[in-house]
Amino acid sequence: MKTVDLRSDTVTQPTQEMREAMYEAPVGDDVYGEDPTINRLQEMSAGMLGKQAALFIPSGTMGNLAAILAHCTRGDEVILGNLSHTFLYECGGISSLGGVHSHQLPNRPDGTLDIQDIRSAIRSDDAHFPVSRLIVLENTHNRCGGVPIENEYMRAVASLAHEYNISMHLDGARIFNAAAALEVDPMDLSEQFDSVTFCLSKGLCAPVGSVLCGSEDFIYRAHRIRKQLGGGMRQAGILAAAGIIALEKMVPRIGEDHQRARTLAQGLNSIPGIIVDTEQPATNMVYFNMDNQNTQINAAQLAAKLNQLGVKVGLVDANRIRLVTHYWINDEAVEYTVEAFKQALQ
Ligand SMILES: *Cc1c(COP(=O)(O)O)cnc(C)c1O
Repeated sequence: MKTVDLRSDTVTQPTQEMREAMYEAPVGDDVYGEDPTINRLQEMSAGMLGKQAALFIPSGTMGNLAAILAHCTRGDEVILGNLSHTFLYECGGISSLGGVHSHQLPNRPDGTLDIQDIRSAIRSDDAHFPVSRLIVLENTHNRCGGVPIENEYMRAVASLAHEYNISMHLDGARIFNAAAALEVDPMDLSEQFDSVTFCLSKGLCAPVGSVLCGSEDFIYRAHRIRKQLGGGMRQAGILAAAGIIALEKMVPRIGEDHQRARTLAQGLNSIPGIIVDTEQPATNMVYFNMDNQNTQINAAQLAAKLNQLGVKVGLVDANRIRLVTHYWINDEAVEYTVEAFKQALQ
């Protein structure tokens, strides 16, 4: 039986070309800054996102943590969304490891935060209050449907942040998906931010790694924090080599995943028993809820039935499922998935 794994784009395996590049990669001790392959990946990344410097990091979670610790000191406050990855899925690391206080604002369905809410959240200079130091935004916004957020909104938040001398960090785990969907240069989406992280190991297919980008001074501080967190790696050019292929070969094709997500959403929308959020997902994520009027089974039961048919899906909660398209999902896999749903829900 074939398996179609739509749980996440993190399940992507490296391509043959990546494996070959990994085999061939010249390496050195990166803690000394001597790994030529990592240095090349970092230069490429900084260039693509319009920043002075970049740092290869083992995971997106560590990238966001290192960034937030480089911006904030203990007791500082970071403003972020209540559906943001950093708030929901990073084990509270900014608080438990960094002593950084989080001020959560409600994410709107389009992934943004209300500008007025942000303004109200910024603390005045009062001895009772933590210091508002940083605003963290996410693009694409994962939990809000993989939605891309336009630069115009980022500019509005940045102008507010500048007014109060607050820094801006972008969790751009899927910034290249956002750029493809909005048909803009990724650099445009990172422009308003002091720092940005993106993942190589999701839709870009690399086996491991994220990159944190920012000014030279910021990356200098983040480099020490990465070491402090245990993320200083040695001959990790083996991994960075796949990341270089990811940037060269995977970024230009990522829109194909979005097209397939739309085909998948349209196919699923015609099936009774589920209600797709939208037939036109902007990027690579299809979210749907169970239609309790039209089916007896819940999301977990549907996921189990699909699993028996070889289709793996991501359970979000008791009523909600996420499907993510990626490099290893071709047109045939999309068709197969729609048929499996029909069978599971009949
Ligand atoms: C995946 C992801 C991260 C980082 O996750 P890791 O699994 O630690 O690489 C950060 N932000 C968002 C929005 C993500 O989807």
